[in-house]
Amino acid sequence: MAKYKRYDYSQKVFIPVSLEDQLMPGTLEFAIHTLIETRMDMSVFDGNFKNDETGRSAYDPKVLLKIVLLGYSRGLISSRKIERACCENVTFMAMSCNQRPDHSTIAAFVSSMKGEILPLFRDILLVCEEENLLGGTFFALDGCKLSSNASKQWSGKFADIKKKKDKIEKKVKRLLAEQIEADKNDSDDLTELSNREKQVKKLQKQANRIEKWLKEASPKIGKKGREINSNVTDNDSATLTSIHGTIQGYNAQALVDSKNQVIVHGEAFGRDDSGLLAPMVKSAKSNMEAAGYGKDYFEGKTFTTDSNYHNKETLKTCDQEKLDAYIPDKRFRSRDPNFKDNRKRRAGLVDRFRLEHFHCNEDNDEYRCPNGKVLTLHVKKTVYDGIVYRGYAANKADCKGCELKVKCLRRKNAKRKTIFIPIGHVPGNLFKAMQDKIDSDQGRRIYSRRIAIVEPVFANIRTHKEMNRLTLRGKIKVNIQWMLYCMVHNIGKIVRCGLNYGFT
Ligand code: SF4
Repeated sequence: MAKYKRYDYSQKVFIPVSLEDQLMPGTLEFAIHTLIETRMDMSVFDGNFKNDETGRSAYDPKVLLKIVLLGYSRGLISSRKIERACCENVTFMAMSCNQRPDHSTIAAFVSSMKGEILPLFRDILLVCEEENLLGGTFFALDGCKLSSNASKQWSGKFADIKKKKDKIEKKVKRLLAEQIEADKNDSDDLTELSNREKQVKKLQKQANRIEKWLKEASPKIGKKGREINSNVTDNDSATLTSIHGTIQGYNAQALVDSKNQVIVHGEAFGRDDSGLLAPMVKSAKSNMEAAGYGKDYFEGKTFTTDSNYHNKETLKTCDQEKLDAYIPDKRFRSRDPNFKDNRKRRAGLVDRFRLEHFHCNEDNDEYRCPNGKVLTLHVKKTVYDGIVYRGYAANKADCKGCELKVKCLRRKNAKRKTIFIPIGHVPGNLFKAMQDKIDSDQGRRIYSRRIAIVEPVFANIRTHKEMNRLTLRGKIKVNIQWMLYCMVHNIGKIVRCGLNYGFT
């Protein structure tokens, strides 16, 4: 006959737990705990409390910051989930010293860190510097577009939003008219009546909210001086387009040092990449100054970003800041012979004619196309990105019935071929200087390193830390959340690559 060990679920078991023993050296939680206790100046929070004589004791900001950073490192962005983890997860219990702050306390703490977040970020950066994690020679800048706590449905130009409000008010009127009709007919369907009443209340509330917003806000004007989309729920956010589609959210920027992929500055903006290099470099300079370096920290350092940042202002900033910048323009790949096959693939297997397929006849100042037709002078001089071009156009009648049209004309509905030949550049032209730099072998080699430096940082934050959606509203609060993620990333680097907080 079988004999098994007895078990009894009703028995009482007392397990001795040392909270400190749960924080094992070499783990991220240990590093967060040690850094907050010993290396971060948490007195920055003291001014927020005036409860020394009256009022009850507040949760220590050290405890709150520890559980928030631990939560973010484990993909818990919701304060309710962090609150639950403090009751159920032994590591969170150890981090919070068995205290159980309410989700509203955690959320209010994160939202209120406006003045404290930057000094805290710099404290961690200083530890990175002391741990010799910063190379200080090569930097890459990029951004990732994150959805925010704002509805795309409530985005639009002022006129569109007003139209939406009018539509809601119209619907309210219709529902009220139906209600009056139902009352007249003595309808006794109480469920329908109550549903309609609820719907009217909800719609009326929405309409009032939009009306209030329209009175307080003013239209947002874009780079080209035209009105761009505003948003009723979070007007600091922007409608951003990326390869993953269009979102309502923020552009989270990170400037990364190449040695160990430490973020030297992180900031969230409600706009696209162009024009963000200058504010990022300025803030990163302040961070490095706080870490004990001079104002010229970035001078002569290699600096790369992608073509989204390429514009006049960016190149001017790089020149003024004396950065050894490598920023390609949008046509960089089309000039690169290594991407010749790519061009073919992307154009749907059509290897289009390029400038070298058009032959110049200098005597007549004209070009001859692959079909033997003549392209005559069309535009004497035009300047684009500081480069001077001369334009030549084919005859419409020649192109109309041409068999080589598919390989020649870019747009389907184009009537004739026009080519622009570069004939020089504006003196002292930053565009031309950058083009020459990026087209050189060294330029291509340096630029190719960019992707391996900055993209894994976003992969870590978005995939491992599961940060795919910002939960707060307004640039200030969103920025706090993004900088906390940057801090968690840097602490991770301290654990993995540092000498004193890692696997010792
Ligand atoms: S489309 Fe016009 S320019 Fe192009 S090959 Fe034909 S005739 Fe020449």
